[in-house]
Amino acid sequence: MVIQLSNIRFSYPNHKDTPILNIPSWSMAEGEHCFIHGPSGNGKSTLLNMLSGILLPNEGVVCVLDQHLNNLTSRQRNKFRADNIGYVFQQFNLIPYLDALENIQLASYFSSSLTKSEVSEEMSTLLTSLNIPESDWNKPVRTLSIGQQQRIAIARALINTPKLLIADEPTSALDNINRDSFMTLLMSTVEKNNITLLFVSHDMSLSQYFNRVESLSELNQVECSNAS
Ligand code: ADP
Ligand code: ADP
Repeated sequence: MVIQLSNIRFSYPNHKDTPILNIPSWSMAEGEHCFIHGPSGNGKSTLLNMLSGILLPNEGVVCVLDQHLNNLTSRQRNKFRADNIGYVFQQFNLIPYLDALENIQLASYFSSSLTKSEVSEEMSTLLTSLNIPESDWNKPVRTLSIGQQQRIAIARALINTPKLLIADEPTSALDNINRDSFMTLLMSTVEKNNITLLFVSHDMSLSQYFNRVESLSELNQVECSNAS
């Protein structure tokens, strides 16, 4: 299993009386593309942060790629995340004044899995396959279109050849045309590289791209006091 959760309970430290997650059991197998939907405030980002070891549960076991994250120190979890998990965010989180190559290079710096020349080669392959013309590789990313920035964010997420890709509302800044081309490109990229994909969004229209669709409210047994 790529992801296995058992008897997870989570609340934020300063809000102990507001449980956010209560997940008895949930898992994802290798190669699955899973879409989890739920309204804003439902706990989607919290769940993803737990899967990537940014947050630890108050109770229960988080197992990712056969590693119990609970047993790792925070430093080990950061290393584990850099080596195994790619992340695509809503706001891309690119550094605006750096160019495409520099943004991607920065992500590779935190993982030891590739040498410098392998990184260069992999960057060229990724940017080319994501249809970013070479003439744009050295421009500050803030000068590129939103659609292009989001494709650079995919390249960055994939540079360390992650086994698991986590996407948190990556299309919400995109218009319909950019959204559809982003999704098509994302799905073919994960397919081609045999990457397991967990994608969360409130936008149900995206479910058409996935072979597994779930509602967070169904897998999360917490009282829905937060969801609006
Ligand atoms: P979603 O991603 O579905 O919008 P989140 O996981 O971001 O939901 O948030 C779930 C709930 O947890 C919300 O009520 C949010 O206000 C609360 N929350 C998120 N982050 C924190 C935090 N750092 N401290 C306290 N509460 C938080
Ligand atoms: P998203 O839409 O991706 O869930 P949010 O806008 O809910 O993001 O939250 C943005 C950031 O603010 C997150 O890092 C989240 O942890 C934090 N946050 C959200 N709600 C709270 C809260 N009630 N208290 C403290 N931090 C919060």
